[in-house]
Amino acid sequence: MSEQALQALIEATRATLEKIAADYAPAVFASSMAAEDMVLTDLILRGKLQEKIGIFTLETGRLHKETLGMLDRIRETYGYDVTPYRPEPAAVEQYVAQNGLNAFYDSVEMRKECCRIRKIEPLNRALAGNKSWITGQRRAQSVTRAALDVQEDDPAHGMAKFNPLADWSEEDVWQYIRDNQVPYNPLHDQGYPSIGCEPCTRAIDPGEDVRAGRWWWENPDSKECGLHVVDGKLIRIKSQTAPA
Ligand code: SF4
Repeated sequence: MSEQALQALIEATRATLEKIAADYAPAVFASSMAAEDMVLTDLILRGKLQEKIGIFTLETGRLHKETLGMLDRIRETYGYDVTPYRPEPAAVEQYVAQNGLNAFYDSVEMRKECCRIRKIEPLNRALAGNKSWITGQRRAQSVTRAALDVQEDDPAHGMAKFNPLADWSEEDVWQYIRDNQVPYNPLHDQGYPSIGCEPCTRAIDPGEDVRAGRWWWENPDSKECGLHVVDGKLIRIKSQTAPA
């Protein structure tokens, strides 16, 4: 993409964030502190939109230390504290006691239950009381994100959902990070294009699909954490049958 085209993309994304702040606040941005999320963090905080758009992360209890370290780097760079949402301790204890610490490797169902406890329930708490929420998802990231729109309805949470980077390529993301000296998770330099919980994320080889490092033991169509699922269906996939 030319420099001019990237600038146009950045301006369009700024305009989306300003529209959210003006018309869809209070809003919250669900950040995993991966590269895409750091672009949005930079745009929100340098745009002084944090009064209208809060930033939180799902601190699942299974994140890499490098990911947790991003909380400090964001504070040092922007003077902003990302709000961590953690799972209910009793639910985690029960799951581990009944199934073991790493039962998510055993089946898709066990994996989804772990994600429900560690991500979905805390996400619901984080979203409560807001008018909209924001993600750093991009259309090009995976087959499950191919139909992503910048603005969507999220009937499950009863609010609007925005994916301001839907049109961005991976190259656009990294160009923005380089041009603006945005801090990023050092795992990206170690072969991790997509970063989630430590036991469910692995480095990939050059040329492998970007999402190949997430839940790599499952079918690609199942590879979502459930954060963007309604009644078992991936709500942003409009032209496909939802996976079981
Ligand atoms: S990504 Fe893995 S460890 Fe994290 S909540 Fe989901 S199943 Fe559990």
